[in-house]
Amino acid sequence: MQESQSYTRERGPAILAAKGVTVRVPLVAGNWKMNKTPSETEAFLTPFLPLVLQAKPEILLIPAFPSLDRAGRILRGTRIRLGAQDLHVEPRGAFTGAVSAEMLVDCGCHYVLVGHSERRHVFGEPDELVRRKLEAAFAGGLRPILCVGETIAERRAGKTESVLRIQLDAGLSGLSTRLLPDVVIAYEPVWAIGTGETATTEQAQDAAAWIRGWLHREVGSSAGEPIRILYGGSVKPDNAAELLALPDVDGALVGGASLDPKGFAQIVAGAPT
Ligand code: PEP
Repeated sequence: MQESQSYTRERGPAILAAKGVTVRVPLVAGNWKMNKTPSETEAFLTPFLPLVLQAKPEILLIPAFPSLDRAGRILRGTRIRLGAQDLHVEPRGAFTGAVSAEMLVDCGCHYVLVGHSERRHVFGEPDELVRRKLEAAFAGGLRPILCVGETIAERRAGKTESVLRIQLDAGLSGLSTRLLPDVVIAYEPVWAIGTGETATTEQAQDAAAWIRGWLHREVGSSAGEPIRILYGGSVKPDNAAELLALPDVDGALVGGASLDPKGFAQIVAGAPT
């Protein structure tokens, strides 16, 4: 069986377990959305790589599909991980325009986003499809980053927790405890994504703590404790350090501010060591 056909655990340094204590290695991920051509990707990486040589967190770049192969070749042998923004649920076949997990792994990807708010709200992806994509990621050898978060209307209506509960139930309930520790959850309030409006540290910590509590209750401490919870939503160099220092936040998913090599390197540098 090829590596890409079965999920293996040696794909990242996510969890360090020493003397029974789980240490979650911070993860700082840049989601480039529909930005940067392959040439622009290379032009980003040339100055970016030397800036993050000594960085302690796990660093992940998530370019658009056409840039993955170029990025994968440049990043090979470095400590920077590559991820994709989406995948199809089937491994191959007559699905014009779609991309499979196996193709992503072949480009050098270790991670894939599932359920990003733009996939949910712009492309209309329901929870059931997000779950199938999460399973397809594992089946194809990728670590899924499950994105969850409420709209502004849901927050104002006091529904933040019930929205998170529905998205987490659909995404993770019943998933094998062997796989669960390798899930990453990104809490991304929809109202903070691409708007310049960041959640306050209190809002980000409250939501992350609620998600951690859900994990302990629903999947148990040993499977749930290693799962990293990222915050995403207008993270920038000047607010990253305080968000990354929150006790239940294990990293950041950064959109717009990850497009600039210096700015993204500054965000990475803001992660606790
Ligand atoms: C994102 O794309 O996941 C995101 C959080 O974007 P931004 O940082 O631009 O709000």
